[in-house]
Amino acid sequence: MPEGDTIHYAARRVGVALVGKEITGIETPHPRSRGGRWPERLAGREVRGVEAHGKHLFIRFDGDLTIHSHLRMTGKWGVYRRGERWRRSPRRAWLVIRTLEHDVVEFDGPVLELMSDSRTRFDQRLAALGPDILAEEFDERDHLRRLREDDPTRELGDALLDQRNLAGIGNVWKSEGCFLAGVDPWRRLAEVGDDEVLAVVGAVRPLMQRSVENGGGWIRTREDGTLWVFERPGLPCHRCGTLIRARGQGDDNRTTYWCPGCQR
Ligand SMILES: [Zn+2]
Repeated sequence: MPEGDTIHYAARRVGVALVGKEITGIETPHPRSRGGRWPERLAGREVRGVEAHGKHLFIRFDGDLTIHSHLRMTGKWGVYRRGERWRRSPRRAWLVIRTLEHDVVEFDGPVLELMSDSRTRFDQRLAALGPDILAEEFDERDHLRRLREDDPTRELGDALLDQRNLAGIGNVWKSEGCFLAGVDPWRRLAEVGDDEVLAVVGAVRPLMQRSVENGGGWIRTREDGTLWVFERPGLPCHRCGTLIRARGQGDDNRTTYWCPGCQR
């Protein structure tokens, strides 16, 4: 699943291609994205800005209209020079925005909607999003307040994935962050100190920022470019030799990887 770093990088590229540029065409070829009259509603409008918040991407047009997308497991944003071959089949395109120089394409949905700016502020799902781990100034206090208002019996690894607590982090960074901070992801929130929570965030944030600089999805946490625990179940820990463990966690049963030797 694309995590926040991938979306921030996509927002950057889409922004360079669209902001202030003449839009020469908008198409919604996929059956599920047709019917909203987007080409008519967006005709003649300029893109003012493109933003990411966590795993959500917003393309803001003149006149109070915003395209909101969330890629979930399957979606992808592509930015191609005019005439360059797209890396996914055109049949999978849900949205195409053309300028004189670029095709900006959203493939495979699955969340793609055109809404007013005010709705993006008041929409319950969006308004509930926690602070973005990749925001220029990460709001630690807001993050801690949200975690402390969450169920104190909830396990840390599960709580970190809840975008209402912290936006942008996903399964890979969650597992690696808990390892780097030496914190057991199975501990309940009531038993985890603020300093430990911030140690996880503090370990992951610079790595995610570096990933954005490297094109997003640049997931590596060790010097040699590999990972400490993610997808290494049954292999010896690089640090202490204990076998890495893996188990589904939380209501969504997302797999958490950890070293019982290094993480307490
Ligand atoms: Zn270890």
